[in-house]
Amino acid sequence: MAKRIPVIAGNWKMNTDVESGLKLVKEILSFSKDFSGVDMIVCPPFVSIASIAQELSGSSIQVGAQNVSANPDGAFTGEVSTSMLRGFVSHAIVGHSERRALNGENSAAVAEKAITAASAGIKPIVCIGEDLEVRKAGNAETYVAKQLEESLVGYTDWDSLIVAYEPVWAIGTGEAATSGQAQEMTHTSREVIRTLAPDAADSVRVLYGGSVNPGNVVELMAQPDIDGALVGGASLKADEFSKIIAAASAS
Ligand code: PEP
Repeated sequence: MAKRIPVIAGNWKMNTDVESGLKLVKEILSFSKDFSGVDMIVCPPFVSIASIAQELSGSSIQVGAQNVSANPDGAFTGEVSTSMLRGFVSHAIVGHSERRALNGENSAAVAEKAITAASAGIKPIVCIGEDLEVRKAGNAETYVAKQLEESLVGYTDWDSLIVAYEPVWAIGTGEAATSGQAQEMTHTSREVIRTLAPDAADSVRVLYGGSVNPGNVVELMAQPDIDGALVGGASLKADEFSKIIAAASAS
């Protein structure tokens, strides 16, 4: 089995304006230009994507969107289509738990977005993860397996797919999953992919996300089913994000 190249993706969420985003990305570039063997992605807000893509053009850091519409261009006020993003981004996060919770996106909508992105040559980073109530009830594995299955209905472009297991209770809380919990759930995610696409399961990258920082990334990356991290808060600090990339590059 070929080694899976690790991925470190930074989700800036609704932070930074064009000027501060450019400053941040220049700092990340200066810290990270010598790293190899890791796919580095930053996902800025839509308004900054064009200028950041231009700044990073020719570098080894790729640009991702934080969301994408499943609809084509047209009467969809406030939405951003794949045709607008094409040429600027290589990846798009779909189904982040904040969008599921705050924007009412269900797994069927996430599946449509993943399919639309992949058909436009934009690699989807499909997010899944249970909340605290589900975990406390002992249902995390069943819940996440079902959520992933439903978020991949009709999806076939397995070479493009990245999955991010992000327990809701670990996002932005400073309380990351233990490496054991994260391994168990990324393994569950991989086994779901195995049922859908047996030949692809060992090559799809499965990330962990939720309070990843330079202090916990090494142990997380050492787990057999964890192929990288989706990083929120720490991706807004160039030094911390670069340390996370360095750990993945050495893994
Ligand atoms: C995220 O929003 O995807 C995330 C993982 O955030 P944080 O790293 O801040 O927990």
